[in-house]
Amino acid sequence: MSPAGGVRGAPEPVDLLLRGGSAVTMDAAGTVLPDAALAVRHGTIVWIGASSDADGRFTAARTIDAGGHFMLPGLVDTHFHTGQQLLRGKLAQLARRRQLKIPIWRNYLIPFEAALSEEDVHLSGLVGYGNLLSVGTTCFAEAGGPHPDEMGLAAREIGIRGIIARSTLDDADGLPDGATLSTGQAVEENLRLVKNWGVPSEENRVGAWLALRQLIVSSAELWDTFADLSKETGARIHIHLAEGTYEVDYATEHWGQRPAEHLDATGFLGPGVHAAHSVLLTDDELRMYQSNKVSVAHCPMGNFLIGPPKIPQMLRLGIEVGLGTDGASSGSLDLFQAVRASWVALQSHFATPWHARGEISLESLFAAATIGGARALGLGAWTGSLEVGKRADVILVQSQTWDLQPVTDAAFTVARSVTGRDVDTVVVDGKVVLDGRELVHVDEERLRARLAERLPVIMSRFETLIGAA
Ligand SMILES: [Zn+2]
Repeated sequence: MSPAGGVRGAPEPVDLLLRGGSAVTMDAAGTVLPDAALAVRHGTIVWIGASSDADGRFTAARTIDAGGHFMLPGLVDTHFHTGQQLLRGKLAQLARRRQLKIPIWRNYLIPFEAALSEEDVHLSGLVGYGNLLSVGTTCFAEAGGPHPDEMGLAAREIGIRGIIARSTLDDADGLPDGATLSTGQAVEENLRLVKNWGVPSEENRVGAWLALRQLIVSSAELWDTFADLSKETGARIHIHLAEGTYEVDYATEHWGQRPAEHLDATGFLGPGVHAAHSVLLTDDELRMYQSNKVSVAHCPMGNFLIGPPKIPQMLRLGIEVGLGTDGASSGSLDLFQAVRASWVALQSHFATPWHARGEISLESLFAAATIGGARALGLGAWTGSLEVGKRADVILVQSQTWDLQPVTDAAFTVARSVTGRDVDTVVVDGKVVLDGRELVHVDEERLRARLAERLPVIMSRFETLIGAA
């Protein structure tokens, strides 16, 4: 399976050898190797094949026995909110006191983010990215939040691959101080971020994109400027789109066009646009996504509260679809669970009413959580699957628990039964960052203590801001 590897009798030095796992590679051929080894040098996968063929071929600085494990590419979260990590459970608690104000994003999410200090975002980053790694996610795309440099520093520190971005709103009333920027500031801050961090690349594990929060809170001038900046810098634009009925009403009222129609007419849509949610789309709008090569972050845990996203049609049209969690405010960051939730919901909407089967497979959704997500972010050439020449973003998932036994078909078990908490070792860019379920680069005891100390301060500030104190 690989042209690389040492000649017999002259072992080749490698940095890391994973040996003995059942590899579900997610390559184009769907290769599954029941007893595989994978060798890593300078962060790159240099060899993958049968364990028996690896014996004597390499001398490894570290060898990990992957027996009793699945070896998978790390999962890719294509829509994540670092700044909402510590909000987990808070809205449920507030809702028990009084009815929440709608829309949630305006009344709670943006105020919460606006109240975070740089230090709070750094803490949210360590907690959030540690959480992602602990459930097998090795790459995230930030939707855009406050203090993105702190996100980048936390991502570098903990060892995850990621794309950071600044929350950008320049045309919104009634939001707290710090939530909105002038158009000039929004352009300047996004540009500075992209210049300082660079765009994500094979060599640049933590890069930056541009971000626009959503259509109804930013000016036409900003959208036009960002479209130009994206072409100039190569940084993609992360947006929320077709996420709410209010957005469709706003667009039809202002422009006589639906949101994606308007963005197509103004020349904004293009291959640099990554559109989270993308639920309320007509078939015409879907074709606009297709012709402009817009990528999609499908966030099943929230999307089905808005409507059934047309994922089967998108995949048939060749639109790049990745999975996203939309951050921790609504619950778990486990993409394995998101795959299954999405499949059940899509099946019940797009197939069951006609007694149809096979409209969408679990395996195709697991692909969206790995290689599909990497492609949706433009990172598919170097992550998302286990292939020679790609960066080594690999997870080991223990396969001996009773809920997974017997393993008759590894691809079935991975798509159907594994959960994030079965992950016990995570390698990103060739470096072990989760080892025996312990984060390697942060002191977890100290991080827990820091969180326990800081959380009450953040929450009391938030409650004062939203008038819930
Ligand atoms: Zn979002």
